[in-house]
Amino acid sequence: MDKEKPLNSADMAIRAENLTKHYGRFTAVKGITFSIKKQEIVGMLGQNGAGKTTTIRLLTGLFPLLQGSTVEILGIDIEKEPVRCKSLLGIVPEMNNAFLDFTVFQNLSFSGRLYGMSKAAIERRGRSLLAQFGLADRVNSLTKALSKGLKQRLNFCMALMHDPPVLILDEPCGGLDPISVKLLREQILQLRSLGKTIVLTTHDMQEAQRICDRVMIIHKGSLLIDESLETVRARLGGAKKITCKLDRDPPAGLESALGAGPRYDGPELMVNGSSCQVITREPLASMSNLHDFFHKTSTVVNDVRMEETSLEDVYCQLIEKEGSKND
Ligand code: ATP
Repeated sequence: MDKEKPLNSADMAIRAENLTKHYGRFTAVKGITFSIKKQEIVGMLGQNGAGKTTTIRLLTGLFPLLQGSTVEILGIDIEKEPVRCKSLLGIVPEMNNAFLDFTVFQNLSFSGRLYGMSKAAIERRGRSLLAQFGLADRVNSLTKALSKGLKQRLNFCMALMHDPPVLILDEPCGGLDPISVKLLREQILQLRSLGKTIVLTTHDMQEAQRICDRVMIIHKGSLLIDESLETVRARLGGAKKITCKLDRDPPAGLESALGAGPRYDGPELMVNGSSCQVITREPLASMSNLHDFFHKTSTVVNDVRMEETSLEDVYCQLIEKEGSKND
């Protein structure tokens, strides 16, 4: 965990303590605690079923908190002042939440009225958001006639109608085409520059790496890491990734030839069929070991590449290590 800078409460947008959720006898979220600074974009990562959506539901008051759990949004306790707290949140859920038989503007109007906005304010804010999200010409379209990407833009507009300072986005760009993804990414960055705090879940490591200031990795209901992107990268400080594509699955003995395995700081080997990846802080030594091993075993190398390590590499390494602990 990134403990270097404790947050003081004035800097804090979200404080969550001991979040826990049981579905029957199964514990989906196991006492997660974290704080999120104002104006940060935080990416919540984790495998399918890790507990991200459940965590978000606890954070946004959709699930009641168990005794001993706390959520504060901008210092306000969600259990003591749920209405005030929810007015500080804009939520884009995993599934479309617009009414399909309403027009685009009727959906915006509905969201605005939920937050007590006047007709004039709804008109002004609604038109401005539709222009910002490229939906101005769809104002009177029926929502069911919109493509998935356009529906998602509408979901953003609905979440932003009451101009909340904190946004919670559950897989905001999941399953969208590259142009829609680009537009929504730009909007997320723009919203941060306007002072919003943004928490988003995603499976897209490149997206997280591009836009997040901080990442949280949830694994089997627990928080595995909660660190700034810089700290995450420093975990692999100076490490390089070597990818080799072979003519067959690598012969036995590659791991020991590389000196990979449990040795602290040693190279890490990942094999996927005939492709193998080595993350190493000693790239020249690893290259030489790979060369000698493939030569000795008469393995043909069709392609070899050396690159900087990425968030995805850190993520895969951590999840694999966690997996092997349980084996
Ligand atoms: P994904 O990336 O697939 O959306 P997630 O990280 O958001 O996954 P959750 O949806 O929070 O994960 O689910 C966490 C765990 O809780 C999973 O094992 C899931 O099967 C289980 N779960 C979720 N909702 C329910 C429910 N209503 N009843 C029982 N189990 C549930």
